[in-house]
This record gives sequence, structure tokens and C-alpha cells, in this order.
Amino acid sequence: SMNNRRYSQDCLTMMRSIVFLALFALASATVSYQGYEVWRLEATREQHADVRQVVEEHHLDVWAGGRDWVHVLVSPEQKTVITEKLAQLSVHSTVYIDNVQALVDRSDEEQKNNRAGFDFEQYNSWEDIEAYLTGLPEVDSRTSIVSLGKTVEGRDLWQLRISVAEGKQPVWIDCGIHAREWISPATCLWGINYLLNGYGSDQAATDLLDANDIYMLVVNNPDGYAFSHTEQRFWRKNRMLYDGNQCTGIDLNRNFDEHFGGTGSSSNSCDETYKGPSAASELETQAVQAGIRDIADRANSLYSIHSYSQLWMYPYGWTCSLPPNYDQLDAISKTGVEALTSVHGTDYEYGTICSTIYPAASTTIDYSYTVGIVNSFTIELRDTGAYGFLLPADQIKPSGEETWAGMIAAILATPST
Ligand SMILES: [Zn+2]
Repeated sequence: SMNNRRYSQDCLTMMRSIVFLALFALASATVSYQGYEVWRLEATREQHADVRQVVEEHHLDVWAGGRDWVHVLVSPEQKTVITEKLAQLSVHSTVYIDNVQALVDRSDEEQKNNRAGFDFEQYNSWEDIEAYLTGLPEVDSRTSIVSLGKTVEGRDLWQLRISVAEGKQPVWIDCGIHAREWISPATCLWGINYLLNGYGSDQAATDLLDANDIYMLVVNNPDGYAFSHTEQRFWRKNRMLYDGNQCTGIDLNRNFDEHFGGTGSSSNSCDETYKGPSAASELETQAVQAGIRDIADRANSLYSIHSYSQLWMYPYGWTCSLPPNYDQLDAISKTGVEALTSVHGTDYEYGTICSTIYPAASTTIDYSYTVGIVNSFTIELRDTGAYGFLLPADQIKPSGEETWAGMIAAILATPST
């Protein structure tokens, strides 16, 4: 019996090793989205609460939302139960992307064919972006680089500053707070090249840099961005894991110290909108808040760039009440959207975050607005969901052209403070 017991213990140990190795293999491989679909749920104002309940109850990953619709990622296992739930609530749904993995495969293939090293018209790795940004001041004296802080994995939050002369009002632009929204950092980077090359020859670029300094945080969530390139394409949050939490990652755009924990943020660490343990608990949030406060009393405006949905928004996110300078924010947004649309005909809607998508507390622009940058905006870039986060790289250039035309028109229409 002694031998038998030893045999069974050895066997157990071996089985544990096999299970461990299998789990390890899964964790290190790229996550598969075979059988996953993106559904569009129609949601009138009256149905918003019902839809939110389904999302929360089933921990659905919301990809995007508009006034009367929301896109959610649905796993093969969830299809039946979600269908039944939606039928009970009379919420109409359609399959918007019927083969998520096929789009991932297309994107993977595109990434494999990338030119070696950095290129403005491809989705670059974190390492290539960092090398480009930190090398720029050596070759262009109009630029300087500042690290606003470090992430939990030790990456720098590089802020590139562009200034053609001293004493101009800064404009803050941040990109890539959500890891999977690759078009966001790509549009920021495209803008750096456009401004530096265009100054002195392109009218809009020249007017902008003659009026303002640009403070650009190109990748607000570098740990998540790197992870979305190497491990899990649809990663959104940062990469912090707290003791006692089941899942890794905090939604940095629900972590700001402004109405923390309000509507649209989750207390469940496994949710994509997990707010974190406390206001500004995250290193990225602390660094960004400090950077925003540093320039709040002299900044012209702030832009926080996301994707997707083609929306131009302003505060508030935490409440659907209108901000004090609503008329001005709406007029500036109208100017920006008209300039944007005039480039390639891309349709954008505009309005407050709360009224245009859904209530979302503790976001970048509610924070910046409250600490004094009263002209704060957030833009959801291309597209409206045909590709979603998997937007082909050949759209980086048109996205850059129209977004910068829109932002420059809006910034130049913003009164100096
Ligand atoms: Zn986002």
C-alpha cells in the first residue's frame, strides 16, 4: 500500500505539472476569439437601464456605444442566455461582426507584414514608439521629451512637447489610455509628423504652432498597449493586479479623482470598467493628474483620444447635467466636427459624454474640467464598428488628416484663458 500511495502521489504531482504546463501554454499564447461575435443592441433612452443591467449581470465587454445603441462582445457560451435575456426585455439585437477571429487574423497578418522599425502608417510596437519619441529631440530642436512617471511594469509615460517659441498656451493631448484602441496612439503619432513637417508650409500646422505649445502623451497606458500587441488583442485596462483581486487591470478612464465610483464604473476587478480600489490608485492616473494640474491655469484646452464610434464629446461624464460653459463647448465642438468632416466626409456626432454615449464617472476630461481646463474634449475616432478596434492600418493616414484638421480648427476657435 506504501508503494501504491507513493505511486498515486507521484501521479498526482505529474498531473498537476501537466495542468500547470497546459495553463502556462494557454496564457503565453495569443487569446483566441473563435466563435465570438459583436452584437449591436438597440437601446432607446427608456431601455438604457435594462441594457446596462444585462451588461453588468453577464460582465459583457462593451466595445462602443451611441445615443441609442451599444456594441458588445459575446462569447460562444453566452449566446443562448443573452438572447433569452434580451428577448425578455424586448431589446432588439443584431449580429454586427459575425466572425471576430477572422478580423483578428486579418489584423495579425497585417502586423506580420509591417515594415521593420517605426512607421507613421502602421501600428507600431511600444518599443518602436518609445525609440521614436525619445530620439526625436536629438534631431528636432522644437521638441522635448518628459517622463510624467512610470507604470507598474516600469514603462515611462513619455510626453512629447512641441514648441516653436516660448510662452505659448499649452494644449494637452493624450492618446492610448485604452490599450486596444490602436488608432488613437497612431493618430497622435501621425500628428507629430504632420506638425513638424508642416510648420512653415502647411497653413493649419503653422497657425497651431504659432498659437500654442503641444503637450502630447502618446501612450497613456503603455503596459496595456504592449500586452495588447503580444498577448491579448482586446486588452483595455492597465496591468496592475491587487492582492485579493481575481483579475488584472484597472480601467484608467474610471480611476480619476472626480466623482470616483459613480455611474458607469464597476467594482468587479474582472469587468472592463473596473474603477480600481480608490480614486487615483493607479500610477498612470497619478502621473496624468499631476501633469494636468501643472498646466491647468494656463492651458488652452485638453483632448483625450479614444476609439471607436466617431464622436466628439465634452463634460460631463458623471452626470447628464450640462456644464456651466455648455454653449461654448458645443460651439467649439461644432467647429471641430465641421472641419473634420470636410476632409473625407466622415460623419461625427457631438455632445456631452453622458448624453452622447452613456454615463461614465472618473474620466480624464471630467477631472481636467474640474481642475480648471474648461475646454476639455474627448474624441472617439473611426470607425462606427465595421472593424472596430481592428481598424486597418491604411486608415491611419485619413484618420490623422481629418482628426488634426478638426482639432486645429477647434483649438484655434477656443478663446484664450
Ligand atoms: Zn477608450
